[in-house]
Amino acid sequence: MDDDFQKAAEFHGHTCPGLAMGYRVAKYVKEHYPRAKDEELVCIAENKSCSVDAIQSILGCTAGKGNLILKDNGKQVFTVYSRDKDKALRIYFKGNVFRGLDALRQKLSLGELGPEEKKEMEGLRSKVIEDILSAKDEDLLSVREVDIPAPEKARIYPSLKCQECGEAFMEILGRTAKGKVVCKDCYEKMVC
Ligand SMILES: [Zn+2]
Ligand SMILES: [Zn+2]
Repeated sequence: MDDDFQKAAEFHGHTCPGLAMGYRVAKYVKEHYPRAKDEELVCIAENKSCSVDAIQSILGCTAGKGNLILKDNGKQVFTVYSRDKDKALRIYFKGNVFRGLDALRQKLSLGELGPEEKKEMEGLRSKVIEDILSAKDEDLLSVREVDIPAPEKARIYPSLKCQECGEAFMEILGRTAKGKVVCKDCYEKMVC
């Protein structure tokens, strides 16, 4: 197993087809755009699934640093912007690798999977992961370079103390309710 995939699996907690998909996308980006030390790469991910964890682990585009933007369209599309190049790669994972796995997964989520099918699913899952890891880039990824406006850098805002709960919060996320300046959480409790 490749080092990057190993690390991504540790971060994510398991290996799965989704993680393998994200790994292939991240690997491709790594070969074309250097890894983000700080914020020079920004990834806009159009899904909230396992693949995003591979992106965080391998490319250093993370929720905490603010250089990961989740725009959940339920699509395996990742646009990775490089501040150095002022260009972005838009990568769509087009590989049709799931065979019969989706149907089995749906049955599993409905609690309708028999023991035989469970075994079948496990086998198929490993096979799908292998397929994803060994396929050629051009069979999996549809890539084009795109021009997008430079994403805003993560900003630090001053803190305020919430006049309801007393906890500090980022000023820009404040609300006013009943004559008090409050955090978003208290706001929702006070007006809803
Ligand atoms: Zn997963
Ligand atoms: Zn509060």
